[in-house]
Amino acid sequence: MIGFRPAAVGGVVLLAAHCDDLAIGAGGSLLTLCSARPGLRVDALVLSGGGTEREEEEHAALTAFCPGADLRLTVLKMPDGRLPANWEEAKAAVEDLRSRTDPDLVLAPNPADAHQDHRGLAKLVPTAFRGHQALGYEIVKWDGDLGRPSVYQPLTPEVAEAKVTLLQQHYPSQRQRPWYDREAFLGLARIRGIECQSRYAEAFYTSKMTLDLAGG
Ligand SMILES: [Zn+2]
Repeated sequence: MIGFRPAAVGGVVLLAAHCDDLAIGAGGSLLTLCSARPGLRVDALVLSGGGTEREEEEHAALTAFCPGADLRLTVLKMPDGRLPANWEEAKAAVEDLRSRTDPDLVLAPNPADAHQDHRGLAKLVPTAFRGHQALGYEIVKWDGDLGRPSVYQPLTPEVAEAKVTLLQQHYPSQRQRPWYDREAFLGLARIRGIECQSRYAEAFYTSKMTLDLAGG
């Protein structure tokens, strides 16, 4: 496989239903991206957790996962597990972010995610970011919704280890969850690495992508 290299990444939008979704789904990719591009503009919107300990965790975590970035994070107070009932508020929040940003890349949940909040947010992405490259991240869960992603970001062993360390360090509220452990995070990264001939990787879904084969 050849690696497609975007000529420029002038800005990134990160979308999540819950605090820690971005770090779990794309933490290694964010470390890779932001380390290589100091000063990168990163606009992050998280729909729930605002006003709780989870908002503070998310601020500290994303600062660590986006080293050197110009990070602007908004954490809203929508109730966890209730996105369908708060559809208009979520839609308005995503559209508001779109009105303030014109990113080269959008990282968001993927539309096949079994969690209704993740899936609902994924469905909002193309309604607001119509001309933008969106990649949908994956999150291991009880429901068993892992599929066959088509886009991979290989991770060096150092980045994969750093991702796990930061996940353990920055989300003390989640440590007691039975799936929140080193084996789960590194195990999935190892499997996605096998699929793209790397040691570790994060994988994404996309519904659409255009090429620029002339380059330059
Ligand atoms: Zn979530």
